[in-house]
Amino acid sequence: MLEKSNTSGPDSEIGSECLKIRAHHLCCIQGFQGYGYSPAFVANLRAVISDIKASPSRPLELVSECDVICASCPNQRECIAQQSIASRRIRNMDLVVMEKLKIKEGIVMKADEAFRLINSQLANASDIEEVCGTCKWRRKCLWYIRDKDNYENKT
Ligand code: SF4
Ligand code: SF4
Repeated sequence: MLEKSNTSGPDSEIGSECLKIRAHHLCCIQGFQGYGYSPAFVANLRAVISDIKASPSRPLELVSECDVICASCPNQRECIAQQSIASRRIRNMDLVVMEKLKIKEGIVMKADEAFRLINSQLANASDIEEVCGTCKWRRKCLWYIRDKDNYENKT
C-alpha cells in the first residue's frame, strides 16, 4: 500500500486521498524507467506511479519537502537536514518548478492537471536545465532526454 499524506488545511478539501509530491518529482515520475537509489526506492516509486496512473484525478499536494517518493529513499535523512547542501540543492529544484508553474507551496490539484501544467510550462531546454542541471540521473531520465532532444531538434 502507498503511504498517504496527512494533508490538511485550506487547500485540501480532499483530505486523506491526497498524495504529497515534491514539485520536481512531477518531472522525475515522467522520466522514470526503472533506475533509482535502491531496490526499495525503485519498488516504491513504481507503486506511486502505478497508483497515480490508476487514478489520474487523484489529488496531489505539491510541496518542497520530503514526500511519498522520498519515504523509501536511502538519502532521506540528508534531504531532511535543513542546512545540508543536498537538501538545499534539491529544495531549490522544487522552488524553480513552483516558480515556473506559478503555484504556491501546498497547492492541491488533480494529478492529470499537474502533469499538463508542468509539460506546458517547462517548455524549453533552459527551463529543463534550470530544474535538472545538477541531477545525477539526467542521462537515464526519459523526461530530461526527451524534452531536451525535442527542443534541440527544433532549433
Ligand atoms: S533529470 Fe533528475 S531531476 Fe530531472 S526529471 Fe529526471 S530524475 Fe528528475
Ligand atoms: S534524493 Fe532526496 S529528494 Fe530525491 S527521492 Fe531521495 S530523499 Fe527524496
